[in-house]
Amino acid sequence: MAAERQRLVLATRNAHKVVELRAILGAAGLDVDLVGADAYPEVPDVPETGVTFAENALLKAHALARATGLPAVADDSGLCVDVLGGAPGIFSARWAGKHGDDTANLELLLAQLSDIDTPHRAAHFACAAALALPNGEERVVMGRLRGTLRFAPAGEYGFGYDPILQPDGYTVTCAELTPDQKNAISHRGEAFRALAPVVRELLG
Ligand code: IMP
Repeated sequence: MAAERQRLVLATRNAHKVVELRAILGAAGLDVDLVGADAYPEVPDVPETGVTFAENALLKAHALARATGLPAVADDSGLCVDVLGGAPGIFSARWAGKHGDDTANLELLLAQLSDIDTPHRAAHFACAAALALPNGEERVVMGRLRGTLRFAPAGEYGFGYDPILQPDGYTVTCAELTPDQKNAISHRGEAFRALAPVVRELLG
């Protein structure tokens, strides 16, 4: 009889993210049964009280591993602008005040940078991907997508700051790349591809 696949629970209720990560981890040769936190509705969301992407990803992964008794994976991401010393960073989702108001966040950032010329508009998306085991063991890895900020949004794909980040080596913004094209170079893709061998090592 075939061995049962190890279940791994992902700290998101976003079905799209589960599908995307299943594809990334599968392509990296990891044969696990990845399920979203939706499968465990009794598990509460944890406040993101960390001050780095890695801390927040670990907080979410540990909380889920403790609550489910299963290995858990979580991520945390954002945009870091060089001339702003890495901001919005962990405040990316609520830069303009209200959590998740992508348009207001993007417009505020463009206004703040209106006097900054292209050579000084370097920025990157960063993603921390964390694995936590019910016994408290943990690992965290980072992925980055570097680029330059445009002066005006362009493109219809994606979300958040995608319309204003032009990845290095490209002439279009992240929002002009198809989801597959973006996943191939994205901070999240890089972080989860780096996490795959770590998961394999820890889960055996
Ligand atoms: P989360 O941690 O994945 O929920 O992302 C936090 C915030 O960072 C989002 O609300 C976006 O503003 C920004 N962000 C993270 N990843 C991306 C991306 O791939 N494209 C655009 N914005 C992103």
